Amino acid sequence: MHIGSHLSVAGGYRQLCADALRIGADTFQFFTRNPRGGSGRVPSDEELAELGAFLREHEFAPAVAHAPYTLNPCAAAENTLRFAREVMRSDLELLDRFPVERIYYNFHPGSHVGQGVERGIELIAETLDLVMDRDLKPVVLLETMSGKGSEVGSRFEELAEIISRSKYGDLLGVCLDTCHVFCAGYDIVNEPEAVLKEFDRVVGLDRLKAIHLNDSMMPFESHKDRHAKLDEGEIGFEALARFVSLEPVRDLPIELETPNELDGYAAEIARMRASGASR
Ligand code: FE
Ligand code: FE
Ligand code: ZN
Repeated sequence: MHIGSHLSVAGGYRQLCADALRIGADTFQFFTRNPRGGSGRVPSDEELAELGAFLREHEFAPAVAHAPYTLNPCAAAENTLRFAREVMRSDLELLDRFPVERIYYNFHPGSHVGQGVERGIELIAETLDLVMDRDLKPVVLLETMSGKGSEVGSRFEELAEIISRSKYGDLLGVCLDTCHVFCAGYDIVNEPEAVLKEFDRVVGLDRLKAIHLNDSMMPFESHKDRHAKLDEGEIGFEALARFVSLEPVRDLPIELETPNELDGYAAEIARMRASGASR
């Protein structure tokens, strides 16, 4: 099992690595810039080389870089859309400099803000066509969403449609968020195998590259998005542990986005690893 959490890069990558070790992680997620989308801190080549050496030495699974969640890659307003595209392109160029074999770039497909899901999908595919490039290293992941407001990507069909419309579809992957799919109406508590089978039928399990492991404060099919600590939500620890033990999931990088400080993450990681060991 490769498990870690979202970690802050505010203190630099050396601090992030120390935090990752302290919580017992062997993967991590970080924001490419502050979540509001402000200008990112540009690391030096030296700092990145040190990060690369650390990740190899400690045999980390690939890291997940998360795009600012305030971006809207299918915005109706032209300046909002342009901003999302500029940020995504510059993030991909930054991540391309990371001296690692593989790194993921996860983003929220966006909200169609009344334009309709069809138009949203069209704009997201267009965004990907504008920001991606065959020779950029990061593997771009669409995150499964809960479907709050006019969010696109809460149905597997919507993700599949974005993938099939983009000219870079063959390069795209998906990051499955357990809180989001549960709130979107996929029953990972009672029928996790059926959910993965449905994902395989619609998107293809070969596209599944990473997991966001969260419990949910909100009930099944609520189309809300409030993460809970593992075991303090509607999904429960047992169901989450079972889900990540399933064959198509268990070797993927698993990132906690639970409302925790480092000690809380450490406890959740230890407990999840112990449950995995007993299977
Ligand atoms: Fe996210
Ligand atoms: Fe997430
Ligand atoms: Zn969320």
